[in-house]
Amino acid sequence: MTARTLTPGHLVLASHNKGKLREIRALVEPFGMEVVSAGDLGLPEPEETGTTFEANSELKARAASTAADLPALADDSGLAVDALGGDPGIYSARWAGPEKDFAMAMRNVEEKLQQAGATSPDKRTARFVCVLCLAWPDGHMETFRGEIEGTMVWPPRGDQGFDYDPAFQPEDHERTFGEMSAEEKHGRTSGDANPLSHRARAFKLFADACLEPARAK
Ligand code: IMP
Repeated sequence: MTARTLTPGHLVLASHNKGKLREIRALVEPFGMEVVSAGDLGLPEPEETGTTFEANSELKARAASTAADLPALADDSGLAVDALGGDPGIYSARWAGPEKDFAMAMRNVEEKLQQAGATSPDKRTARFVCVLCLAWPDGHMETFRGEIEGTMVWPPRGDQGFDYDPAFQPEDHERTFGEMSAEEKHGRTSGDANPLSHRARAFKLFADACLEPARAK
């Protein structure tokens, strides 16, 4: 089935996470969309009651679209570590606590990896997952998933990116996401054919399906 095209105009970004907003804004704006964040509109953050990335992304997009009466794009994402049975997964933000302390969250992941005996790189595999959902006020939704495989490193390296980036080294790379520029993490904003990050990969699927290519600068 063909996806519904998003016509240029206002788009609500249904996220309150500053790092995600910065990255999604940079990806969407070249397509002629005028973006406004859920925070700018004073929309509350809905409780993430879903048990999958898809369910949480859809409930955030739907809530923002209904409240703003505009199309809304939501991102539900996280870090899934194999030796921890996929944790922190959909709870990635919550592992940082109310203070959003990601140094603590990364330390917590590392302690659990040590307890599991995961000391060599082959036992420290993980992936970042991003599910983007675009919802329209009439209830129509389109959902896209992107993933990037890698390994957990310790100690964390680099001060670029956000949250768990310094502890994640994408496969076939020597540096962590925290040591990469935004362009290296996501590819060129004009739309790389093979972007690296989970978010840019989900975004490429979204852009190919829902955005008019001619509008990309
Ligand atoms: P949520 O989707 O708002 O529930 O939270 C996802 C959480 O996953 C974020 O708060 C980050 O901690 C983590 N996360 C998702 N994508 C990235 C990324 O690209 N880099 C670092 N951390 C990420």
